[in-house]
Amino acid sequence: MVKLIKAKTKEVHVHRYRRTTLTPQSRTVVFRCTLPDCSHYVYPNMYKGRNCVCWRCGSVFVIEREHSRMAKPHCSACIIRKGGKTHAPITDNEVDTLLNDLGLLID
Ligand SMILES: [Zn+2]
Ligand SMILES: [Zn+2]
Repeated sequence: MVKLIKAKTKEVHVHRYRRTTLTPQSRTVVFRCTLPDCSHYVYPNMYKGRNCVCWRCGSVFVIEREHSRMAKPHCSACIIRKGGKTHAPITDNEVDTLLNDLGLLID
């Protein structure tokens, strides 16, 4: 990928992170911003405490431990809406299905 020099005014936005690997072959997990024209990504040790746009409702929330396991993180309000409790957002089976879909199945 070509790195573009930022010539225009810096666009400030809240990143919408998605868990992926550094390259398709790599096992190095990173969290990459999925917005167009943004090549920002962070390593897991830099991930917590960052602002992120919720994949479900689009609001901004801060990444915490419970969010860091999700491929497409969504805010606590959306976790509660779906699962009824904050600490078990999805079942193991759902996780496996998700990881399979993403080609990220790890043991
Ligand atoms: Zn971004
Ligand atoms: Zn949300």
